Amino acid sequence: MLIADKTAVQIHYTLTDDAGNVIDTSRDEGGQPLAYLHGMGNIVVGLEKALTGLKKGDQKKVVVTPAEGYGEHDPRGVQKVPRTQFPTDVEIEPGMMFTAEDEDGVTQVYVQEVSADHVVVDLNHPMAGKTLHFDIEIVDVRAASATELQHGHVHGPGGHHH
Ligand code: ZN
Repeated sequence: MLIADKTAVQIHYTLTDDAGNVIDTSRDEGGQPLAYLHGMGNIVVGLEKALTGLKKGDQKKVVVTPAEGYGEHDPRGVQKVPRTQFPTDVEIEPGMMFTAEDEDGVTQVYVQEVSADHVVVDLNHPMAGKTLHFDIEIVDVRAASATELQHGHVHGPGGHHH
């Protein structure tokens, strides 16, 4: 079976940046393949496009531009926030992630810089503006079930468990 819309796909992946640093991988010791529903936006659009038409056992290196990955880095997303808006019982360090809630919902906030009275945060995705280098192996391809299509995600190994 070939990867197409409405197939449930399992992949092993390694994601590296331009410098070859590993950002994320499913190939850690004991790592499970990632299961996703093709054509539903479960994974970044550039990777989804590149995997269309592949089959079980295929391997592929895919380069995804920021526009088809996590988006361009928006400078307006970098903001200076008073230290008093953060919990006082937590030591704040660059690289930390916080979850902020406002009327638009929940956003993840990454700490860039910390001074005595301010914290510089970045609301962009940490991979925004970066070219993504994926090393992919297709582990399994099958037709998605009606329930999976309804839920918009894969059930079972590597997917959701209800
Ligand atoms: Zn479900």
